[in-house]
Amino acid sequence: MADYRNPMLGSPLEVKVLTRRFDLANSASIAVYVAHEGYQALKKAFGMKPDEVINEVKKSNLRGRGGAGFNAGMKWSFVPGQTTKPKYVVSNADESEPGTCKDRVLMEYDPHQLIEGIVIAGYAIQSHQGYIYIRGEYRYLMDILDRAIEEAYAQGYLGKNILGSGFDFDLATHTGAGAYECGEETALLNSLEGLRGYPRVKPPFPALIGLYGCPTIINNVETLSNVPHIISHGGDWYAKLGTPNNGGTRLFCLSGHIERPGIYELPMGFPLRQMIEDVGGGVWHGKKLKCVIPGGSSCPVLTADEIDVPMDFDSLARIGSMLGSGGVVILDEDTCMVKAAWRIMKFYAHESCGWCVPCREGTHWLKTLLERFHSDGGMPDDPDTALDVSYNILGKTLCPLGDAAAMPMISILKKFRHEFEEHLKLGSCPYEKRAVNVA
Ligand code: SF4
Repeated sequence: MADYRNPMLGSPLEVKVLTRRFDLANSASIAVYVAHEGYQALKKAFGMKPDEVINEVKKSNLRGRGGAGFNAGMKWSFVPGQTTKPKYVVSNADESEPGTCKDRVLMEYDPHQLIEGIVIAGYAIQSHQGYIYIRGEYRYLMDILDRAIEEAYAQGYLGKNILGSGFDFDLATHTGAGAYECGEETALLNSLEGLRGYPRVKPPFPALIGLYGCPTIINNVETLSNVPHIISHGGDWYAKLGTPNNGGTRLFCLSGHIERPGIYELPMGFPLRQMIEDVGGGVWHGKKLKCVIPGGSSCPVLTADEIDVPMDFDSLARIGSMLGSGGVVILDEDTCMVKAAWRIMKFYAHESCGWCVPCREGTHWLKTLLERFHSDGGMPDDPDTALDVSYNILGKTLCPLGDAAAMPMISILKKFRHEFEEHLKLGSCPYEKRAVNVA
């Protein structure tokens, strides 16, 4: 595994908030964490009323880093204050979006930052039990997190009467079996309950009826890791790091055909062009840029003419795409976009849980249609058929996985239609010899 503490992978343009302890030796230990302001925010939070903690997070404009971008403080405020039911905090560590690998390093290099964020969230909504749900492929992180949780119990940051505050909070890890679908919050809850990881119909939302039918907040690892910094330095400070309505920094995972792939912490709203050229060192081997997937494989793609955009939720939405999970994938001029679309559809067809027809049948149909462009069996109507199938998935499925497949497909069909036509005309792939194999 790459060593993300290697300074060669850093950039002077980074603004390190979440990653600032990554370079320290033994950064995952509680000793290092406490020596570098760790658990100070929790002490401060205990001096505040739970509502004040929620308001500070609201003020920070922290938006969900898992992909949806919902205001985290707002989500917390939906949990009922008065209820006889237990409440739960769940950290979604089921990071599975292709192109995204930032939660992994947050858990590996600074697990106490996440634990502190979870306990503060628990205090804010008056929950006494939390879970970290980790994807099956990240099993090795369980040891790191379990060790960190043990340390936190031993030093009084978890358990009964934390730091003499009178507040109790328990935390445990739970692993999934490696299904992309379990990153969807209600499928995750079913899996956590020991059921098959099918999503639930929403509403009701988990803030009201979540784990075991009780009020639950589910936040991504990066989202919760931001919370100690917001409480320590204030919501206003955090909000000013980013752009209006998009507070803080973001861990961007630069991958694909880029000179310096890696995970970079940059302010929200950082220009995409500068991210590619100055942070990532430009498209590899001096080639030209063809396409950017700006926030993980479920996002509508951008052409080389669309990269003068600030990387925040609202700016990308304005040009018809999404910030998603922060996975920025660069594709060079030699990439076959038909093959890239096929590779994305292959993933979603494989990960579809099969519950609803448009997703189950549609993703497989798209994969099959795209396959035949490279086996000399493409039909003249195929681009239109693929578009039709995609629109019959979009907005017509139980969970967002259907949209996650349809959105990139529609954007590739619209923006790179000429490549589909070229394949049909030639009866073969014009990029076969020079394209990087994306399969
Ligand atoms: Fe399952 Fe796909 Fe329907 Fe989601 S959209 S419930 S993954 S079949």
